[in-house]
Formats: sequence, structure tokens, C-alpha cells
Amino acid sequence: MTTACSVRVRGVVQGVGFRPFVFRLARANTLAGWVTNAGDGVEIHLEGAPEGVRAFLDKLAAQAPPAADIAGIDVEPAPPTGAQEFVIRESVRGGALTTRISPDLAICDRCLHELFDPSDPRASYPYINCTDCGPRYSIITGLPYDRPQTTMARWPMDARCAGEYHDPASRRFHAQPVACPACGPQYVLRSRGDAVRGDDAVRRAAGLLRDGRIVAVKGVGGYHLACDARDAGAVRALRERKFRKEKPFAVMVPDVAAARALADVSAEAEAVMRGPARPIVLLPARVTLPGIAPDNDELGVMLPYAPLHHLLFACGAPDVLVMTSANRSSEPIAYEDDDALATLDGIADAFLVGERPIARRVEDSVVRVDGEPVMLRRGRGYAPGAVAACPVRRPVLALGADLKNAITLVIDGQAFVSQHIGDLADYEARCAFGETVRDLLAMYDVPLDDLLVVHDAHPQYHSSLYAAELPCAERRAVQHHRAHVASVMAERGEWDRPVLGVSFDGTGYGDDGAIWGGELFAGSVASGFERVAHLRGADLVGGDAAARHPVQAAAGFVEQLDDRPDLCAAPFAFPPWYRDVVRLLRSRTRTFTTTSVGRLFDTAAALTGFTRAISFEGQAAMWLEHQARRSVPVDPYPCPYGDGELDFRPLLAAVVRDRVRGREPAEIAHAFHAGVARAVCDACVSLAALRDLDAVVLSGGVFQNRLLVRDVSVQLTARGLAVLVNHAVPPNDGGISLGQAALAAMDARPCTSSRSR
Ligand code: ZN
Ligand code: FE
Repeated sequence: MTTACSVRVRGVVQGVGFRPFVFRLARANTLAGWVTNAGDGVEIHLEGAPEGVRAFLDKLAAQAPPAADIAGIDVEPAPPTGAQEFVIRESVRGGALTTRISPDLAICDRCLHELFDPSDPRASYPYINCTDCGPRYSIITGLPYDRPQTTMARWPMDARCAGEYHDPASRRFHAQPVACPACGPQYVLRSRGDAVRGDDAVRRAAGLLRDGRIVAVKGVGGYHLACDARDAGAVRALRERKFRKEKPFAVMVPDVAAARALADVSAEAEAVMRGPARPIVLLPARVTLPGIAPDNDELGVMLPYAPLHHLLFACGAPDVLVMTSANRSSEPIAYEDDDALATLDGIADAFLVGERPIARRVEDSVVRVDGEPVMLRRGRGYAPGAVAACPVRRPVLALGADLKNAITLVIDGQAFVSQHIGDLADYEARCAFGETVRDLLAMYDVPLDDLLVVHDAHPQYHSSLYAAELPCAERRAVQHHRAHVASVMAERGEWDRPVLGVSFDGTGYGDDGAIWGGELFAGSVASGFERVAHLRGADLVGGDAAARHPVQAAAGFVEQLDDRPDLCAAPFAFPPWYRDVVRLLRSRTRTFTTTSVGRLFDTAAALTGFTRAISFEGQAAMWLEHQARRSVPVDPYPCPYGDGELDFRPLLAAVVRDRVRGREPAEIAHAFHAGVARAVCDACVSLAALRDLDAVVLSGGVFQNRLLVRDVSVQLTARGLAVLVNHAVPPNDGGISLGQAALAAMDARPCTSSRSR
């Protein structure tokens, strides 16, 4: 007896070897029919004995390829067609395009083995890949995922590659980027008008790195600037040429053993490091590499993920390489060859240019593993994966915030978060932002006449102004700090669960137009979040511009203390221009009100000794945490909570008093951290009891501070409250768009609706 059925598989099922897997599984069960990529996943038609069909369906999810992520399987009876064998059909165009696009995958063990097997036709070939590994998102130019719609379209396969591509028994069966040295792209080393191609290019690049030179290296989602991380001169030159004074550099090492020589690698951290996403993992440093991560006790380490990286190490490149996004200062990573050659001229001594184009820039992801992994920057290996199911029928596009921008598209109830885009104050980042919006809308063929666009409540944000120009059905603004809290609940899919939300960051537009950043809310994503407490307000001269100068931020906070020593004198030694800031403050010139905990940390850092300008966002707070971690545990400074307000005055008064008395800055920093943690706990315990809540959400950039998160979590847990934090999207503004999408989708109260004209 023959039965027939049609099976639809949704999820990450294209570009991950799914059709070949289905093909082999069908043949193993003597079934006839076909499999094809469709716009919304993979379609399978099966004909054969009922036991065969049953066995097939049993194994379909259980034995799927490692990179596949199945969202759903629908099986329906179908009329038999009399098929005699099982085949892979050409992809179907048209229909709904909601297939999930696979992120880029690090080279797999079998390809790695071939890469270093001298008898293999792809030995030392930097573009080796298979159905289990290689680029995906960074080479796709359209859906469905097929070779003509990738940046490999211009390289016709030779007989060998075509043979493997069409052979169901091959592990390159329908591997879209398949190539070999005879038919595929190569790497070229360019330096001073000279160009070398192929193996020599990689060898020579490794030699230049050994000689202390800076080489721009084309990777998967963009260019890196590479140099020997142990060569202090090379590192200094890179910092000078890149205008990157102090922001930490990530390093790449050949293997986990080399990582262990530099940092503590827990079992959890190792699993993330070796995973197919291969992100930069922040590890507790064991050694100090001069100039790599100043004033920081973590080191960002990643393992090689492109075949080229393995080849560089094998050709003798130094075993700890700086691998930093190739750009000037805060611009987004360069990914187009002409652009890279132009903008990096004067920074790089040579360019290792890969001939395969990159379709879109995707920066390295950054993950911290503190027990569980926490995403700090979502990029290569994760984007554009779905991070949450979002119960809304219509499409929603959430544009995020202006700092650390990333966007979220909700389509068919799935929330897809884009790669990290950057700071929209930068022109290049704004261009990348527009490209990413257009890219996602086009890739998923989103109907604009039903699109809900969500943006930050800040009327002057570039992302808000952009939203106003987008042709769409409806627009909605969502308040920044509520979006932070909602991002945690959206990740968890807990729409109705009432929680207390602590949203601490540097800046965000408040309901009253003030600069918020120390907010506590009660509510749920579905019902909306009511502001129930906040940091005591302070004046801020220059508004958000004060974020660059901790001493400038300090002025308004210190002004509220009863005892104010001369901060320009020892031991504080603020710069003389601080007096001008105080003058502006008292005449209320260009002065704004803020409840920002980020600025409170800046103030404490300034009072503890960080009196210079910062050279990257969050630097002063990171410095303060670094100081605090060097101290033995000390008693917290007082920071009382009452009447919906966290009062920073006793906290800062204690900092000032102890500094004057000559207490160790490390101890002062620690007592400050402990004071803030205690205050958060007191407020949460009191508010939770009042409102009968049992869980606390911690989100916002301030909660990238490990010391603070650990202290608050331990205390809240001890008081019987559950602590919920971000994992899939960053706690910083990189997670805002997911929270925006969730709140708008739920039609929550705090969304100030602004129907489009
Ligand atoms: Zn492979
Ligand atoms: Fe924020």
C-alpha cells in the first residue's frame, strides 16, 4: 500500500544542508517524491509505505543537520503522483518569503581537515566550505537561498565542484558557496602597488604580521585590522592610526589552549567560543598585553572562524593577533574592497583582499559568559536569527535607539533582530542603518501598507526622524527605558507576567522630556509599564554632551551635597575648566534635568580619579568597576530609598569624604558599587511587597557591570525575588528594538500613538 503526504518545515532550514539530509532520509526509507526550498521554508512530498513515511517523520526533526533550527513541521495528506524516485527540485519563487536566513557559520571540522590535507584538491584553499559550514547571511543577495542569489554567482563551478554539488552522497550536495582553487575566488595581497595572489598572498601576509606590520584582512562580514598583539609598537601604531586611544581590542588565537594562556576559560565559555557562531568571548584576563585592554580585567578572545584565519596561523602569523573591525574611530566596519582600500589607506600597511564580495556588513558578535552567556553585541553568527516569537499578525519594524543601533523585524509572529549597526550620530552608520532597513524589508517582501513602524520617543533621534519618512501604515513611539525592560520579557515570551523592571543606563528620553536613566517600573509587556521610582534628579550641563566628560557630569550631582570641597584642588584635581561648568550650572545655562545612573557612575569615577575625557562610551564606569574589583569587600555607602526616589546624596557625600581622608580609590569604588546595589535591592524589595510582585528585570547599559549585577542578583534572590536579565539581545541599546517591537505589538499603554498622515 502506498500513502502520500506533503510536509512543510519552517525555521532555519535553507543553506544548512537540509535538502540533502531530507534526500538521504527519504531514500533510506525507500520513499519517492521531492524536496524543494520554498519562500517560507522547505516543502517535501513523500510517497511510499506507511511505515517508511512514519520512520521518516520520526527522524526529520531528531536527526536534522546541526545548523538547522526547526520552528515548525506541518504534515498533510496529499494525492499520490506515482513518483518513482526521490529528487531535489529547483527552488520555487514566489509566495510568502518568511524562510529564516541562516547566520554565517564557522568552518567545520571536516572542512578544516581537508584544508590541511595536502592531497585534497581544496588543500589550503581559503574559500573551502560545505553544507555544514561557511558564509550564509553575508553572501545572500536574495531569497530563496540558491547560488545565483549569492555573491558566488559570478564563479561558475568547474566539473569537480559541480559533481559534488549535484551528488546526493557528497557533503557539498547543494552547498551554495562551493568552490575550489580551479574555479573559485582567491585572496590577493596588495601592498605598495604590488599584488600577489593565492597561497603566496597568505604566506606573505603572515610574514608582514610577524614583522610588526598592520594588515587589513577581509573576513566573513567585513575587514579586520590585524597585527601582532604582543608587539607593543605595532599595537601603539594601530591605535594612533585608527584614532582609537583606549577602547579594548579583541584578539584571535589559533586554539583554546592559546586562549587559556591569556585568560580563564570556563567550560561554558569554551562551548560558546567553539560554537558555530564563533563570537568574541570576554574572558577574565590572566596576563596583561600592553595596550590591548587598558584598565580592564577582561580580554575579548575569539577563535579562527574563516578558513583564511587558520591558514594565516599555519603560515606562521603571530599566535595572538589583534583582530579589530577595520574602520576609522567609530565608523561601521568596512566591507567593500574599494571602500576599504580608500578609508584604510594610511592605517594598514597591506591588504589581504578576498575576491568573494560581501553582500552586507556583519561585525563580530561579543558575548560574555558569566555562568550563562549574555550577548553584548549581536552580529556575525547570530544575525539575522529569530530571537523570539511575538504574538502579532501584522508586520512590525522597530528601529531601535541611536546608540548601538540594531533593528527588529517581526513577520509572521517571529522577531528577527538585525546585526549591530552602530552609533547613528555617524554618517556611515546612518547609511548602514538605511541599508539594513531596506534589506530586511525587501528580503522578507514586507507589505508596507500593513507595516507598523516603531521608534524611540526621542523626537530628535535620527531613527525617529527616519521613521517619520518611512511609508507605512502606522507609527508608534515607545519610551526608551520601558523598551529595555520589555526586551527581557520578549526574549522569554512572557507577555503577561507582571514584574518590577529596573532600567539603568546613560540616557533616554523620558515622558517629561528629561534625560532618564535610573528608572523603576511595574507592569507587564501586555499591560504596559508604570514608572514607580527613579534616581533623584540632578542638573546636567550640556545634556547628553556631558557623557564625554565625567567631571562635567559630576557638577550637577555634587552641587546637591552640603559639603563641597574645591574639586580643582588635591586630591580631586579636576581640570580648571570645571569652574566654568559650575558657573554655567548656577546660571542654568544649557542645563537639563537627569535621573541617569550612567551619569551617577561617571560622577563617582570623576571623584575617584577619572578626570579626563572618555574616549569610548561607558569608559568611566568600566574604569570604576575595574578599580572596585581590586578591592576586598567593604561596607556599602548609604543610598537610601524612600518615596519613589533613590537618594544619591549620602552616597556621593561618602565618596567625597573618604577621598579627602585618603582612603584607597579601589575601596571607595567598591563601597560605591555596593551602595548602589543595596539601594536597588531596598527599592525592589519594598516595591515588590507593595505591588505583590515576585520577579525583577534588570536591563540597560549599566547592567553590563558584572559587579553590580552579581551583587544585586545575590541580594534579590536571597530575599525571594526572581532576577531576569537579557541573554539573546544585549542589555545595552542593542536590545532596544526588540523591546520596542514587543510593546508596540502588545498595544501597551505607554506607547504614545501617532497615526501617520
Ligand atoms: Zn564544512
Ligand atoms: Fe538605553
